[in-house]
Amino acid sequence: SGSSLPESAPALVVTRNGGGDVLEVRDQPLAQPGPDQVLVRVAAAGVNFIDTYQREGVYPIPTPFVSGSEGAGEVVQVGDGVSNFVVGDRVAWGQGLGSSQAYAPVDTKNLVHVPPGVDLETAAAAMLQGLTAHYLSTSTYAVQQGTVALVHAAAGGVGQLLTQMVKKRGGRVIATAGSAEKLETARARGADELIDYSQVDDIAAAVRELTDGVGVDVVYDGVGKDTFEASLNSLKPRGLMVLYGGASGQVPPFDLQRLNKLGSLFVTRPSLGAYIATPDELRARTTELFDWIESGDVQVTIGGRYPLEDARTAYADLEGRRTQGKLILVP
Ligand code: NDP
Repeated sequence: SGSSLPESAPALVVTRNGGGDVLEVRDQPLAQPGPDQVLVRVAAAGVNFIDTYQREGVYPIPTPFVSGSEGAGEVVQVGDGVSNFVVGDRVAWGQGLGSSQAYAPVDTKNLVHVPPGVDLETAAAAMLQGLTAHYLSTSTYAVQQGTVALVHAAAGGVGQLLTQMVKKRGGRVIATAGSAEKLETARARGADELIDYSQVDDIAAAVRELTDGVGVDVVYDGVGKDTFEASLNSLKPRGLMVLYGGASGQVPPFDLQRLNKLGSLFVTRPSLGAYIATPDELRARTTELFDWIESGDVQVTIGGRYPLEDARTAYADLEGRRTQGKLILVP
């Protein structure tokens, strides 16, 4: 029964497209879970770059809307047709809008159970970036023993997880980051070689030096605009360029003929949704991810916890390159 639920609760609202100042925390009437939805009391919501793309209008969504694609918490109500979740279940999700509020309606197709050994903050912190690092290292490029990977922004949320997963599969990681302190973090997560790209003019030359002039098998690039050219130039012939985000801005249109000249390169621009498109795939990836977290093979670093009211600060910190690991909002 919903009798113990409040009538309204705080939500992080994108009031119109723009910078962080368009974010407002508003008290809103509690949503009812629709068919195939549950209502979750949110323990923690994840802070992600996709939230900034949606806020800015790069990924258009009619405003106003409640921000956030990731969270974890406890089921407090179930909608019609829901059979696999009951009130009291501990759950988490990594896609679907409207996560950054105290009580979030969530589509069950996006929902997984959180195992008892994983706390809800860790689950919220792990879903979107952890599943991303999982598909990037196991599917977009299936890293094997001896694979040489260049991982940009390796102290970031995805970066730290990806570094650990590439290492777990027997790969070698050349990590970049914007400060010596961040590179120390990347090293602690297993990176073999470090490049401070705030100090190095020619990243590709540095990569070639570390690979006997050969280049790398795969580049994982979530920085985008500022690193894309260096990434292409760091690949060996037939290497794979994985452009998975644009933290520094989107990459402009690109002449495919250049892939020929640079050595028959491959380029992909993947998104998480396509790699968790079926409930089976979502469950398989999440089960493995939680197993790795529970066994300690993969460490999830929460680099900042912010009350929901301080969401503007959280996003300013993320977009201002002041963070390491994962940021979460606590409603
Ligand atoms: P991070 O924690 O990695 O933060 C972004 C980092 O990028 C910064 O800390 C900074 O590290 C680096 N960076 C370099 N240039 C800039 C710049 N101009 N402005 C801001 N940051 C910059 O964020 P996330 O882990 O949340 O996301 C990383 C990337 O992954 C994003 O592009 C995001 O969109 C993408 N992503 C893609 C998904 C997909 O499926 N395609 C899913 C999830 C995330 P440094 O100071 O070391 O350079």
